[in-house]
Amino acid sequence: MILNIEVNRIDHIGIAVKSIEDSMKLYSDLLNLEKEGIEELEERGLRVHIFKVGETKFELLEPTREDSEISKFLEKKGEGIHHIALNVDNIETAFERAKDMGFRIIGDTIQRGAGGRRIFFLHPKDTGGILIEFVEGGRENE
Ligand code: ZN
Repeated sequence: MILNIEVNRIDHIGIAVKSIEDSMKLYSDLLNLEKEGIEELEERGLRVHIFKVGETKFELLEPTREDSEISKFLEKKGEGIHHIALNVDNIETAFERAKDMGFRIIGDTIQRGAGGRRIFFLHPKDTGGILIEFVEGGRENE
């Protein structure tokens, strides 16, 4: 039996930035968003700053190495929206459903993302150019 995906909400919007310091003027000084935390994703060459925006979040993604995925993105496209993440309760269901429907999945597997939550990405060639992430589980600490 194939179960349908149930999307709870937009979990976060990932934004590629050259420098988190330089982004503070907008996100912190002007918008006055509450900072939820900073995370180093060493193996992906990323530093992530998370700001709360009501029910959802902005994740500012800053590269820490020249060979990180965000460095490549910045080179090709410049700063801007990198991905949109959808929150689901059951990541396996989402993964199986997407695969069954022929969507390509980056790395072809479920991975660990920020906060240790399970994630996967649909290939933007199959989604009209939008990098869509699925994230499992609820709020922080769940
Ligand atoms: Zn994300």
